[in-house]
Amino acid sequence: MQNNTPAKSWEQRDLSLIWHPCSQMKDYETLPPIVVDHGKGVWLYDIHGKRYMDIVSSWWANLLGHCQPEINAAIKAQLDDLEHVIFANFSHRPAIELAEQLDAITPERIHKFHFNDNGSSAVECALKMSFQFYHQTGKPEKKRFMCLSEGYHGETIGALSVGSMDLFAKLYKPMMMDNIHVTAPDCYRCPYGKTREHCACECFEHAEKAFAAHAQETAAIIVEPLLQGCAGMRIYPPLYLKKLRQLCDTYDVLLIADEIATGFGRTGTMFACDQADISPDIMCLSKGLTGGYLPMSVTCVSDRIYQAFYADYGKGLSFPHSHTYAGNPIGCAAALAVQKIMREQHILEKAADTAKWLTAEMTRVFGQHPNVGEIRHIGLIHAIELVKDPVTKERLDPTKRTGYAIYKHALKRGLVLRPLGDVLYFNPALNITREELRFAIDTAYASLLDVLPV
Ligand code: PMP
Repeated sequence: MQNNTPAKSWEQRDLSLIWHPCSQMKDYETLPPIVVDHGKGVWLYDIHGKRYMDIVSSWWANLLGHCQPEINAAIKAQLDDLEHVIFANFSHRPAIELAEQLDAITPERIHKFHFNDNGSSAVECALKMSFQFYHQTGKPEKKRFMCLSEGYHGETIGALSVGSMDLFAKLYKPMMMDNIHVTAPDCYRCPYGKTREHCACECFEHAEKAFAAHAQETAAIIVEPLLQGCAGMRIYPPLYLKKLRQLCDTYDVLLIADEIATGFGRTGTMFACDQADISPDIMCLSKGLTGGYLPMSVTCVSDRIYQAFYADYGKGLSFPHSHTYAGNPIGCAAALAVQKIMREQHILEKAADTAKWLTAEMTRVFGQHPNVGEIRHIGLIHAIELVKDPVTKERLDPTKRTGYAIYKHALKRGLVLRPLGDVLYFNPALNITREELRFAIDTAYASLLDVLPV
């Protein structure tokens, strides 16, 4: 019997079954899903042959381009040896080598590596470890957490409750832990009238007050070092981290650096903490760890923390925390390939050169637009905050969804410029070329003019 029903498109098949993350699915009525066929470098190619430049590194994860030949080869080679193995009491060469390499590049206090399988799970692990650390070292009253306002650490309940972004967290507050939210630096709209480059971190007074009032009951403070990504790529100076390290030492509070978005060269140095020359007690890594290929994360800790869990079985001091895919060998093989490329191809040095050029070009092209408030940058990350008026810094009307409108125009023009509210940003693969960035800058500017003409 002949079937006369027209075949459904891939887009229709997607929408009939899939609930996409962080989306209002009704929006897909006017902007259906872009079904990607393949990727190469910074480009994504859809099933209709149209190409898009991935200037946001697919949620900041893709570190060295899509389908990078060496990472692909490492994964293929690993696949024929071992795809996965229980990580309790078993191990494998890729995980051991990766831990050795992380030990060599992470800040000085960090020497032990607990594998998990995504960013949020690395954060959950860090929170539980901090709580348990004090529980079993004679300070059980230290069971709360501090975090910065506008922070973001993932979307599971624990991670969400050390986040402060109402957009993600507000509704779920009744489900959350009672944490202490410290007012974060806000360098673009500095309440002290200072600039990021010339300040003494006057805003650090909020942290000092919070520690004076709550340090006794606090196990740890968690921060996104130097860059509050989801809040709109808000950048703050290294001095803030230096002061925070000192404060944590003075009050015996653990410092958790969530380097999930900032790690592996995103801010210009291997880790953002390096720019402040500080070492956290716990560091969370994910995203760029595997080049954005596979879900893997590591909660990296100091010996002091590790030793507090080291005892004869039965004393109740072990850490009862596991994720099925912890230490997955294919993820580890990808991560090893990433590290090899970073070293052998001098990726950080080259990215620093590209970043200088990019800053100059962004300033030249976007600088005069009447709705461009600030062009801020750290490493290759460049963000443009759109405002009503650059003098008053008044925000655009959020109900107009200007950023989203620009995103849609950019997509038509072949650029994935997914914004954070009304902040447009580039967070590209570290090996992106100037020619590729030229396309991104010109396309982003044209898309801005589509929506906000001058
Ligand atoms: N922390 C930070 C700083 C992040 O940027 C993110 C993800 N954007 C997370 C944690 C959560 O990671 P995941 O989405 O893998 O759970």
